[in-house]
Amino acid sequence: MRFTNLTRGLEIGANCYLLETSGKKIVLDSGMHPKQEGENACPMFDLLEHGSVDAVVLSHAHQDHIGTLPLLLRDHPKAPVFMTEATRKLGGIMLHNSVNVMDRQREEIGATQLFRHRDVEIGSKKWRACPLEHPFSIHGERLSSHSHHDTVSFEFFDAGHILGSVGTLIRAEGKRIFYTGDVNFEDQTISRAATFPEEPVDVLIMETTRGDSPTPEGFTRANEQARLLAAIQEGLKREGCILIPVFALGKTQELLAMLYQMRKSGQIGAIPIYIGGLSTKITCLYDELRSSTPRLLPNLKLMDCPTLQTLAGKDAGKTELHDHRIYALSSGMMSEITLSNVFGRRVIDQPDESIFFVGYADPDSPAGQVRACSQGQLVQLASHSAPQPLLCNKESFNFSAHSSRECLREYAKKVQPKKIILVHGDAPAMGWFKEVLGGDLPGTEIITPTPGEPIEL
Ligand SMILES: [Zn+2]
Ligand SMILES: [Zn+2]
Repeated sequence: MRFTNLTRGLEIGANCYLLETSGKKIVLDSGMHPKQEGENACPMFDLLEHGSVDAVVLSHAHQDHIGTLPLLLRDHPKAPVFMTEATRKLGGIMLHNSVNVMDRQREEIGATQLFRHRDVEIGSKKWRACPLEHPFSIHGERLSSHSHHDTVSFEFFDAGHILGSVGTLIRAEGKRIFYTGDVNFEDQTISRAATFPEEPVDVLIMETTRGDSPTPEGFTRANEQARLLAAIQEGLKREGCILIPVFALGKTQELLAMLYQMRKSGQIGAIPIYIGGLSTKITCLYDELRSSTPRLLPNLKLMDCPTLQTLAGKDAGKTELHDHRIYALSSGMMSEITLSNVFGRRVIDQPDESIFFVGYADPDSPAGQVRACSQGQLVQLASHSAPQPLLCNKESFNFSAHSSRECLREYAKKVQPKKIILVHGDAPAMGWFKEVLGGDLPGTEIITPTPGEPIEL
C-alpha cells in the first residue's frame, strides 16, 4: 500500500492525496489552491497516468478540497466520485460559481480559465452520493458490514466541519486507514461535533490546520459569541454599518444562526442583514437538508429570517450603504473582485463603520492585512486602488470550523495509529503535532509527506 501527497507544498493548498492498494488507485480530494493561479493552483495531476484512477473520494465541498475535480475527471473520465448527498449538491453550486469567478478574472486580470461549465456538467455524471456509516466498495456497491474484508471499501463519518463534511475510513489489505478531511470535534452553532470511529486504525491521515494556535485559557465558543454580541451592539451605536467578511459555505450560515439566536433572545433588534448571491444559494441548501443531515437547530430555516436580504447581480457592489445594517459578505479573505473587498474599500476609512472578522484569513490576503493593521495605518485592498488609512472600528473573533489542536491530539491518542500522516497545515502547525504526538505515541511513525514522493504504508 502506498500514499503520495499530490499537493504541491506542505500547506493548506490544493489538497489531494493518492492511495494505491490492491492494484487500485484512489484519490482523496481534488482541491484548488486559494492563492495560486493556473497550473500552480492544481494538484500534481501529472503524476497520475491518464485514465489510471479507479475512484475519487471527496471529504467536503470547500474549494481547497473540490476545486479541481472537473480537471481530474477530464483525465480520468471513468472514475466514479464518492461524496455525501450534501456535498454532491453543494459541489455543483461551488464549481459553477468557480467557473463564473474564473470568467471574471480572465476578463479583468487575464487569469487562466482552468475549466468551463460544460466540464462541471460532464464530470458530475460520475458523482455518487453515499450515506454516512455504511461501507461501500470503490465501484459503489453497498456492502453488508461483514462482507468487505477482501475488497477495498470506504465508509463516511460526519466531520462536524460544514454541511456534508466527512472523515473517510478505508479498509484494504486487512488494514484500516482513516482520513479526517477538515474536522471539528466540538459543536458550532449549526454543525454538530464530529462522530468519528474510535477503534484503532493502522494509518491516520490528519488535518493540522490549527497546530500553531493554542486555545487561549478560558476560551469558549459561548464567550466568543457574547463578545461578538457586545461588538455588534457597540457597532450599531456608532450610527454605522457592520461589514463581516465570511466564507459563503459554512461561516455565513454559522453567523446567520448566531444572529438568529441574538435576535430571538432580544439582544439585538430586527436589523437588516445582507448576504451575497452564492451565500443565498448555499443557505437555501442548509435549509433544504436541515432534517436529513446531522446538525444542531434542525428546525431553524435561515432563509425565513424576515430581515435577510440578498445582494446579487453586476451592480451589487454599488449598493448604497446604510446605517444599522449588517453586511455578511464573501469572500472571507476579502479577495479582489469579491463583494467583501468592494465593500471593505468603502468602509475602511470611515470612523463610523465597523469591520468584524469571524474566521481564518491568510496573513497575505486583504482580510489578513486589515486584521494586522493598526488604527491610522495605510492598507491597500486591491491592486488598482490607492492605499487607505484604517479608520473604522475593527474587531476579530475566533469561530473556527476546524478542530482545536488539543482535540485532534486526543483523537490521535484514542485511535493509536501505527502511522500518522500530517496534512492540511503550515510547517509550524505540522511541527507542533510531530513533536507532541512523538511524545504521546512513541511507537508511532509520524510523517510529513514530501509532495510527490510515495510512502510505503
Ligand atoms: Zn474545509
Ligand atoms: Zn480545507
